[in-house]
Amino acid sequence: MNATKVLEDLNRRFPNEPEYIQAVSVVLNSIEEEYNKHPEFDKSNLVERLCIPDRIYTFRVTWVDDKGNVQTNMGYRVQHNNAIGPYKGGVRFHASVNLSILKFLAFEQTFKNSLTTLPMGGAKGGSDFSPRGKSNNEIMRFCQAFMTELWNHVGPDEDVPAGDIGVGGREVGYMFGMYKKLSHQFSGTFTGKGREFGGSLVRPEATGYGNIYFLTEMLKTKGLDLNGKTCLVSGAGNVAQYTVEKVIQLGGKVLTMSDSDGYIYDPDGIDREKLDYIMELKNLYRGRISEYAEKYGVKYVAGAKPWSEKADIILPSATQNEINEEAAKAIVANGAIAVSEGANMPCTPQAIKVFQDAKILYSPGKASNAGGVSVSGLEMTQNAEHLSWTAGEVDNRLHSIMKSIHEACVKYGTEPDGYVNYVKGANIAGFMKVAKAMMAQGII
Ligand code: GLU
Repeated sequence: MNATKVLEDLNRRFPNEPEYIQAVSVVLNSIEEEYNKHPEFDKSNLVERLCIPDRIYTFRVTWVDDKGNVQTNMGYRVQHNNAIGPYKGGVRFHASVNLSILKFLAFEQTFKNSLTTLPMGGAKGGSDFSPRGKSNNEIMRFCQAFMTELWNHVGPDEDVPAGDIGVGGREVGYMFGMYKKLSHQFSGTFTGKGREFGGSLVRPEATGYGNIYFLTEMLKTKGLDLNGKTCLVSGAGNVAQYTVEKVIQLGGKVLTMSDSDGYIYDPDGIDREKLDYIMELKNLYRGRISEYAEKYGVKYVAGAKPWSEKADIILPSATQNEINEEAAKAIVANGAIAVSEGANMPCTPQAIKVFQDAKILYSPGKASNAGGVSVSGLEMTQNAEHLSWTAGEVDNRLHSIMKSIHEACVKYGTEPDGYVNYVKGANIAGFMKVAKAMMAQGII
């Protein structure tokens, strides 16, 4: 395989899908050398079979808003690869959703899920529906309409959706309800369900906690820990909230959180009480982060991201491409020691290069944010067993999964000078498992 040639070809075939091409290019560039050690891969054109999704469902979602207007949105499910297990991945509801974004997410999910050690393939779905400002009833009607199209393509051994941006416990509940009604079955077809109907304990916390468990492993390689370290967190949703919770538990100090309108800077750190306020603000009242600044009398910067602030640890937990080259240079100039991605692809390839050239700890989301889907995998196991595990049991398993992902990154990503290239490590480790499974299953 010649990564440059493959990418040129994909670019020609999918010219309007920059995020997808970006995600593929980062993976191909880091696996090229390893891939070419296996001539059998190229003989079966494994690279194209791995980059192009198995199938994509596209559909119209029609629903009625509170004023009686008939609304339409686009709905999608990208089933990327099921070589190692049923398709698995979240659903995103956000105005920016399009095929490029869902193809990048489904592609990343395939390698992430492979890294988790659990048997899950990769998928992603979503809609350009924006939950912002919608009433609870509108959200419910939209989720139900979305499922009337999708229900026939998902199932516990076929494709298991979950949450992502704009889709949390409430939306999963509504989608699961409609799925159950149409399929006449109660099964583990969704993860991230409510605790009362098959949801796993620790699933809400899992992505944020997992990121901090992974960060702790990275810091350990330098003989460091989180205690007393300052952190910049972006986002204020599920991932960001539980990231902050775990940082507080481990003695770190979170200076910032953000939403799409701007960020707050709290020099005293966001403590437990302030985090409770943010959780209520975001999860219950669905308010804006600027309200935190008003309540606690701290700085609020509208229309900006927090990356110019000085801190030891950077935890991007909002969305793709939120750290560009310029932001990365500011982060390095401010003396940061680690960047651990909670979001999917929050750093541009140019930003990643800045971190790696500076030889600071940097981990890609497919490794450090894999805790969420890992606990989803554990939820699938509990559903299949018709049992539920204790919070302690799930948390212990999450912890050991994050440790083994870290070990895999070190194994495949350690460079001759001892620097761990976590991008290379995660991509090679994730890729090899999927590649071997695909080879064993023939040309399909
Ligand atoms: N959306 C999450 C992710 O990006 C979780 C997916 C899942 O639990 O299936 O990994």
